[in-house]
Amino acid sequence: MNKNKQETKALVLFSGGLDSRLAIKVLQDQLGKENVEAVFFQLPFGGGCCSDKLCVFRFTQKQRIKLHVKDVTKGKLFKEYINMLRNPEHTRGTALNPCIDCHLFMFKKAKSIAKKIGAEIIATGEVLGERPLSQHKKALIEIETQAKLKNKILRPLSAKLLPETDYEKKGLIDRSKLLDIKGRRRVPQIALAKKYKIDFPTPGGGCLLCEKEYCKKLEQILPNKDITQTDIELLSIGRHFEASKIILGKNHQDNLILEKQKGIKITPQQPGPTALVKDKSLIEQAKKLIQKYSKHKIKSFS
Ligand code: SF4
Repeated sequence: MNKNKQETKALVLFSGGLDSRLAIKVLQDQLGKENVEAVFFQLPFGGGCCSDKLCVFRFTQKQRIKLHVKDVTKGKLFKEYINMLRNPEHTRGTALNPCIDCHLFMFKKAKSIAKKIGAEIIATGEVLGERPLSQHKKALIEIETQAKLKNKILRPLSAKLLPETDYEKKGLIDRSKLLDIKGRRRVPQIALAKKYKIDFPTPGGGCLLCEKEYCKKLEQILPNKDITQTDIELLSIGRHFEASKIILGKNHQDNLILEKQKGIKITPQQPGPTALVKDKSLIEQAKKLIQKYSKHKIKSFS
């Protein structure tokens, strides 16, 4: 016997941003508050709208939504993500961002969480045409096929513009109560946020893989077998030389961060940048660079 709506559970891929907040609310209207759970992927390069994890927790707590967190910044998941990034199967975006593969990665993980918690529906806050690479109709359908989730990803905000999902066909979800939002203007979403009385972060933040300057540095260290989350985070600070084997602080804040890292640290006795050096043979070069970027004559180092 088919389950009725009250017994149906959904798992929403939750980025923290407005769209996925609304997807949760739209589904809660139909399935009841307790039957909608969320999964948040903490990705190595950021992503979605909330780089602030607290913002994600605040919303799910306030809305009493059970939240599953997948930490992709360490362990097996980190390695898997980095391998995907090295050799994506689909086109990259304007920088190194492999958006289709990245979505596939998350859907595959979401699928196993959904199975574990008994959620029949997997849903997202994706809006048709909102992002050029991964949210046009062909890409949405391609992602479903690749993730072996054909007609099994519900996108409540754009559902009426997309092929009917199995959930709608089975009557687990009422298609007539889903939405037909498309495009990059967020006017309907903002109106809905008012209706639901929910706050939301400003869009942007997001994924370092979309930033060309950052990716130039990343490309040099990406082949390293032992790349870590710390290496990835350090790319956002300081000046980088020799494929980031020498990193020089640009300001006091950078210097403090570099001083806390493992490895060889070279600090000038006179005012100047601290260097983090990953290879002993580069110590002398690092000292010359410290002198170059200091306004003072450096007499000694510690
Ligand atoms: S921008 Fe693309 S690569 Fe970055 S998190 Fe989003 S989908 Fe993944």
